[in-house]
This record gives sequence, structure tokens and C-alpha cells, in this order.
Amino acid sequence: MIVCKFGGTSLCDASRVRQAMAILRRDGARRFVVVSAPGRRFDGDEKITDLLLRAGNGDDEALAAALARFREMAAALGVDMEGELRRVREEIPGRGAEFAASRGEYLCGHLLARCLRWTFVDAAEAVCLRQNGTADLEETYRRLSRLLRPLKNAVVPGFYGTTRRGEVRTFPRGGSDITGALVAGAMGARLYENWTDVDGLMSADPRVVQNTICVPEVSYRQMRLLSAMGAQVLHPDSLLPVMRADIPTALKNSFHPERPGTRISGGARAKVPCLAGRALESGAGLLAILSPEAMDLPNCAVSALRAAGIRPRWLGAWSDRLLMRVRANCLPDALRALHHALIEGGAKPRPQA
Ligand code: ASP
Repeated sequence: MIVCKFGGTSLCDASRVRQAMAILRRDGARRFVVVSAPGRRFDGDEKITDLLLRAGNGDDEALAAALARFREMAAALGVDMEGELRRVREEIPGRGAEFAASRGEYLCGHLLARCLRWTFVDAAEAVCLRQNGTADLEETYRRLSRLLRPLKNAVVPGFYGTTRRGEVRTFPRGGSDITGALVAGAMGARLYENWTDVDGLMSADPRVVQNTICVPEVSYRQMRLLSAMGAQVLHPDSLLPVMRADIPTALKNSFHPERPGTRISGGARAKVPCLAGRALESGAGLLAILSPEAMDLPNCAVSALRAAGIRPRWLGAWSDRLLMRVRANCLPDALRALHHALIEGGAKPRPQA
């Protein structure tokens, strides 16, 4: 069985919802789906979560705008959401920003469940959060198994759960990824598919580096390093539940479902180099490079940086990853130089011993 999670851009309007439904229906193994709240439809648009956070702080216009978007989507999809919309409008005032923010996923879950005619399982009953906002794994797995095992299909809203005291709390931003991983872990899925608006893990941040390519596979350990270094494709806290249960994660583009995406699993290893960099407040910049076995990356990396006038300091070199330090203001140039030399130019094979 496959657990899917669709991000906000993949559910931002009625046509995107139809596309997600088509993906789900294409494979009967896709039995459980976790949803984000609708995201931005165009540059300058506001995410539903941002509108609702404002609504939670008393902004009635933002609340009206969020509910109007759901009403418009429901009308275009031919489903009736008036009961839920009325309830949310009545419940939000006075319940604080986290409760308000959670209603984006709640309403989106109801909407998709109604369109698919699948059961809606409320994350408030299924996901147990500790007071510090992290998931109580054991209790969550118990609840998810009890609620989901009897069902053929279900839609679960991402991003929120309840504490043992019954308060609705949210994960950090982007936290629907965590809910998806929890559902996959609890159900012992054979695959966790995370559907987004990008092709997968890219060889470097495309906002900094041109000509990036999609990395076909990486290990969980490699992905954790990249997430810690700022790669934003997947929430770092979503790796643990699937890593523990050894469930592969597929990062897929819902706009181009035919593209292969990135596969993350225990046994996988990056076959092309992949870069991430992060500036620290101290003025230092950290650079991580996933290094495929067959390449002589340490030497290539150092020569590429020296040729760009950058002097790196080694922090560590393992068989599958390298860590270096440069000055934070050199990071963009360092990433571009490394990408050019190691990926666009193709690094040299490791010399034979
Ligand atoms: N809707 C929430 C956010 O915008 C959570 C998520 O999408 O994962 O951060």
C-alpha cells in the first residue's frame, strides 16, 4: 500500500485538485492521502495557511478570503462544503492562531474526501502532539492504526494534531510532510509518495545555481544532511518515521507525474553529486556535497573552489558525503563553481589504487 501526501501548490485550485484525484485513482495501492492547505495559485497570491494565521489574530477579512476560496473550489468541483465552512467560521474567533491555521488542512481534507468519496479521518483524533509540538510517535501510531486499518481509503489532513489535553496544535510550517510520514510509518506502507510542485531533490538550490538537475536517488542519511543544510523539498522531521520503518520516500512532481522524481531509501546512494550550502550567523558558510562512489570529489571540489578564488576548510569527508567551510559571503559563488565543475562538467572518476 502507498501513502501519498499532496502539498499546497498541488491542491491550490479546483483543476489541481482534479489532477491530484487522477493521480490517486491511477493506482489502487494509493489508499491513504494526506493533504496540505491550498497554496499560492500565482505570484503574489496568499497561501490559505497565511490567511488563516491572520484570521486567528482577529483579521475578519482574511478569514472571509480563506473561506471564499474554499467555497469557490467546492462549487467548481460540484461538492457541498457549506456545513463545514459555517462551522469553521463560528469556531475560529477566540481559539488562537494555531487552531485557525489548522483549519486550512481540515477543510482541504473534507473537500478532497468528498470529491473522492473516501472517508475523512480527522488528524485531531489521529495525531497526538506533545506539549513541545513534536509528535508522540507511539500514541499517534496506535491511533492511526485503529482509525485507518478498517478503511479501504481515507483522507487525513496534515499539519495538526491534538495534545493529550485536547488542544489543537500545529507542526512547524511545511509540517504536512511529517503527518504523511507518520501515516506511512503507522500503516507500514511500502512507499511514501510526496507530491510537490518540483521534480524532486535538485543538484543545488535552483534559485542560486543555473542548470540544476534532478537527483534520482539518495539515502536517508544523505537527505538528512541536505535538509539540515537548508534543502527545502522535504521537512527534515518527516524523515525519521519512514527511516525507522525502512519505507522508501518518492518525491514527485504533481504537475508532471510522468517524471521519475527522487527516491529516498536506506539502501540508495546519490549517483550524481548534490550540493547544499548554509550561511551561519558567525559569518561562516557550510557546504555539503553528496559524493557518488565512483568520483574523486575531494580533489575536484578543492580545485574548482581554488579556481574561483575561494579557500575551503575541510570539516569532514565520508565515503558518501563531504563537508567544507567557506566564508558565508562566498557561498553562492562556491555553489556555482562546484556545480559547474562537478555536475555540468562531470567530475573525474576516482583514480584506481
Ligand atoms: N499549510 C502549512 C504551511 O503552509 C503546512 C504544510 O503545507 O505542510 O506551512
